Amino acid sequence: ANWKMNLLAADARAWPAKLEAPAGVELLVCPPLALLPVLRDALGPAGRVALGAQNVHPAAKGAFTGEHSCAMLLDAGARYVLVGHSERRAMFGDTDAFVADKLRAALNAGLRPVLCVGERLAERESGATFRVLRGQLTAALAGLGLPSPEPATLVVAYEPVWAIGTGRNATAEQAQEALAFVRERLAELLGWTWARAARILYGGSATPANAAELAAQPDVDGFLVGGASLDPAAFSAIAAATARAKEQR
Ligand code: PEP
Repeated sequence: ANWKMNLLAADARAWPAKLEAPAGVELLVCPPLALLPVLRDALGPAGRVALGAQNVHPAAKGAFTGEHSCAMLLDAGARYVLVGHSERRAMFGDTDAFVADKLRAALNAGLRPVLCVGERLAERESGATFRVLRGQLTAALAGLGLPSPEPATLVVAYEPVWAIGTGRNATAEQAQEALAFVRERLAELLGWTWARAARILYGGSATPANAAELAAQPDVDGFLVGGASLDPAAFSAIAAATARAKEQR
């Protein structure tokens, strides 16, 4: 769940009570940073829901007004962090090189990065989708020198920019084709042990109505959900559809 810049403390306190977490899926919520401790307390100690942040600064500390370090995110309860979300790339100047710095800092600090990649509409229409994905993945992951993988250490979210917040999701075929491509590039860059251990997610207007078909695809391990995650009932329905599709796979 990526809440983006939405909801207030009262919403965060109420959200977990309306969540139905099915067995067989991992749940992660990335609220705005100010709500992380509120949500952590509302979820309680035995929660099956992990917490994450939506952004991080790669430096350990210093004069970076408005930013937060990995240590600060861990301190606030985050175990994951989104890096390279298309909104940050488009609106806040996150370059491929800066995304790579954030990813490396997160891994070194013990935060699990959710690396977001995806093409813009013009890039898809001009046939550049795979070139864009290859470039973003290579810039973020080449030369990382990663140790042996643990499950869920690396999460990659394929999010076509034209599907984010637009109500127009990728088709199951488009999602499968892109996610299989992402997994093959992970294998090329990091080896098949990492590529198999990584969670590869689809993001872009995922809803309870389209989740089952998308989750049935062999390379769709799960979802990064924006708008629909603000409603715990809709988020729960996406999780349940994912759990069912995985059982049947
Ligand atoms: C996102 O921003 O990561 C996202 C997938 O948003 P939405 O589900 O609203 O398209």
